[in-house]
Amino acid sequence: MKPGPVEYLVAGALGRRLTVLGSTGSIGLSTLDVVAHARAHYGDDAFPIEALTAQSNVEILSEQVRRFRPRLAVVADASRYDDLKRALAGEDVELAAGPDAIVDAAARPSDLVMVAIVGAAALEPTLAAARRGATIALANKECVVAAGDVFRKTLASSRATVVPVDSEHNAAFQLLDFAQSHAIEKVTLTASGGPFREWPRERMRSATPEQAVAHPNWSMGAKISVDSATLMNKGLEIIEAHVLFALPAEKLGVIVHPQSVVHCLVSYCDGSTLAHLSAPDMRTPIAHALAWPTRISAPSLKLDLGRARQLTFEEPDPERFPCLRLARECLDAGGLMPTVLNAANEIAVAAFLAKKIGFLDIASVIEDTLASAQSGGRIRPQNLDAVLTADADARATATQYCRLRAA
Ligand code: NAD
Ligand code: MG
Repeated sequence: MKPGPVEYLVAGALGRRLTVLGSTGSIGLSTLDVVAHARAHYGDDAFPIEALTAQSNVEILSEQVRRFRPRLAVVADASRYDDLKRALAGEDVELAAGPDAIVDAAARPSDLVMVAIVGAAALEPTLAAARRGATIALANKECVVAAGDVFRKTLASSRATVVPVDSEHNAAFQLLDFAQSHAIEKVTLTASGGPFREWPRERMRSATPEQAVAHPNWSMGAKISVDSATLMNKGLEIIEAHVLFALPAEKLGVIVHPQSVVHCLVSYCDGSTLAHLSAPDMRTPIAHALAWPTRISAPSLKLDLGRARQLTFEEPDPERFPCLRLARECLDAGGLMPTVLNAANEIAVAAFLAKKIGFLDIASVIEDTLASAQSGGRIRPQNLDAVLTADADARATATQYCRLRAA
């Protein structure tokens, strides 16, 4: 690091030992890009890596091991373990495989855990990291939605700290004055509107996975890209904000902002509204979360308002985007309904990406699954087992509804 009078302000942050769960995905790659930039900028010893994990992409994982030198590398798909061993023969790194090994990786001592796994599969590793009091840079939203109260209680009874990475929640985290929570009137999350923002509903019927993942502003994994196209992403994010920030549903709003420059707005009772702005580049919230409460240089695109020219805002259309309504209904219903919503969505999106159901079927499958779960779903989740059972049941039901729609 270049000598400077305040270098000690970031030095502590840079020395943190980091575990990246889901290092081969979109957020994982961006995280390692932030680490590479920090090493080039501040010194090779920035963010030593404890563990990197992936589902099955052994090729990218082994490249990352050679470049970032973690102590441990894990592949969740055990059938790829031999390939991982072959690819890293002779390297000084511990290797492991299987879903339990991902949980073990999260439980190993490190200062920071970036949770960049997609889906509710992140739940158990995240809770393992929380139980040992790690600081958790949380990109994954499905585990927060699926486990709700159980997530909050486990976090509250551990010494863990969560810094949200999801851009809107990271922005809210920066804007919220937690000491004056009585003064917060509204937290408004922005939505880009996705690739089908201006499409009539009839046209959406024949939308393909390729069209759905072609997001106008962000480059992301396939699942969250489809969630952005249905607006379920914003529905999940409203529930995520409710759980993370303990805000009631009526204080959580959504506004469509196609430029994705403003990420969140927080309105206070004196009439002030604070906004967070940045270029749509996840390396900004990632760098913020890795360095919090200090700030470090990041390789992200920087905001150029002259080029952005105009920032526009519009109300979301509940007719064309029913997923937002479904998510709000689940938040109001409480209990296990958000668990069911998330599980049904994961199954429906996977079926759509596999071209088994159409784009509009995603919302229908979720709605049907929610209707089936209605009676049991309202029960308040007491513990992790209740959540995991509701999640598994909803996946089985949603799979049946996908089959019916495909037939
Ligand atoms: P992605 O699909 O690109 O990457 C997912 C990563 O998780 C990969 O490394 C994959 O190997 C791993 N993985 C997948 N299934 C797994 C399993 N069952 N067990 C263990 N590892 C598994 O996804 P992404 O776009 O990087 O998103 C990751 C998370 O971050 C999601 O929850 C998403 O909602 C959230 N998020 C992403 C963005 C973004 O810009 N991509 C923005 C905000 C929030
Ligand atoms: Mg987001």
